[in-house]
Formats: sequence, structure tokens, C-alpha cells
Amino acid sequence: MPTDSTPSIADALDRVRDRIAQAAQAANRDPADITLVAVSKTKPVDRVRDALDHGQRDFGENYLQDALAKIGALTEREPLWHFIGDIQSNKTRDIASNFAWAHAIDRFKIARRLSDQRPEGLAPLNLCIQVNIDGEASKSGLAPDAVVELADQIVELDHVRLRGLMTIPAPRDDEAGQRKPFAALRDLMQRLNDRGHALDTLSMGMSTDLEAAIAEGATHVRVGTDIFGARDH
Ligand SMILES: *Cc1c(COP(=O)(O)O)cnc(C)c1O
Repeated sequence: MPTDSTPSIADALDRVRDRIAQAAQAANRDPADITLVAVSKTKPVDRVRDALDHGQRDFGENYLQDALAKIGALTEREPLWHFIGDIQSNKTRDIASNFAWAHAIDRFKIARRLSDQRPEGLAPLNLCIQVNIDGEASKSGLAPDAVVELADQIVELDHVRLRGLMTIPAPRDDEAGQRKPFAALRDLMQRLNDRGHALDTLSMGMSTDLEAAIAEGATHVRVGTDIFGARDH
């Protein structure tokens, strides 16, 4: 049981759900169209269990070994696992076997390996292409102009399903400024759909900017700090 000194995951989840509901209402959107991905990276399995006990189903991880331990411990609870970090080639087999989603695809080679290694009997692995929407030198993700080519390649693969786009914009402190890169990601998805793609996912918005992301059409917000507290690393 949480004590006074242990922040309650349940209360934190309720607060984040309220923020999502309010942001959806302000944008005339149905809150049910927005999936909260609880980013549990670096957090112990007991905290994930607390969140599961409070009705949370989707979890985001980006350190593979840490994630695999939690996944193994919680199989019977049937959480949905999202790999939200960069993927190196030597990680694709474990990700293809253990996750429902990968959000940060920026190379065809990785998408092809995930498709080839997706085990028989599992639904296709859902993928998002990560877009470096602000063109920051330090960030991973594809330049917007390169996204069409990668999307056209990924849709040819059999055991992955291209669902949409993901981004982590440069930090901005006002909501109007935060909305601009999210609007640009939404426009980019529209351009892909105008070319014949059928993308339905915008993975955008974190603890500090989820309201702006929802205003611009986010379908998946990835929230860590405001659910589980600050991370050590
Ligand atoms: C850590 C992380 C998050 C969560 O960020 P918070 O600011 O803690 O909410 C979201 N997306 C990605 C890709 C991350 O690595």
C-alpha cells in the first residue's frame, strides 16, 4: 500500500486521465480516441503492477533488458507493450517477439528485420515512423521530406503494420508554440494519407505538452514523469 511518502500511482493516473479528458473536450474530441501509454522505463515492476491494478493497459519502455524482465513478470496480466526507443539491429528479435508496438522506426532495415522476426501467430507489429519535426541535430528520427519513401517501403512488409507517425519536439514553454510541431506532424500524416496510405496514429505528447498534442490530434500520448515520478537516469 502507498504510504504518505510514496506518491500514489493511482492518484497520478487519475490526474493524467483528467488532463486528457479536459484537453479532448476542449478540442471537441472523444477521449476514448486517445490512448495513454504509461512510460514505465527505469521503474520497478511493482509500480507497473500498481498501474495495472488501476486499469492502465498500455506501457512504454525503451531499455530492452529492463523491459524484458517486467514483461516476463507480468505476462498473465496481459499488458500491451510499446517499444518507444531507438532500435538497434541486435534488438529486433526480442522486440518483434515481446511488443505490440514500436514507435521510433527511422530505417527500413529495422522495419524489415522486425517483420521477418515477428513470430507466427502474433498479430502484425504496429509501427510508427519517428519524425525529427524540428530538424534538431541531436535528435533521432527522419527528416519530414524522407518519410514518404520509408512509408512506401514499410507498407510492403507482411508482418508489420504501419500505423502512423511519432515525434518528440524541441521543448517550448507556451502551448501555442508547443502546438506548431504537432500540427506539422498531423499535416505530414495527412499528406501520406492523400498518397493512399491509411495511417490512423499520431504518437505525440508527453508529461509537459500532452494538452497541445491532443489539441492537434494526438491518438497516443506517452507519459512517464507525471505518472511514475522523476527518473534517476
Ligand atoms: C521517456 C519518454 C517519454 C516520457 O516522457 P515524460 O516527460 O517523462 O512524460 C515519452 N516518449 C519517449 C520516447 C520517451 O523516451
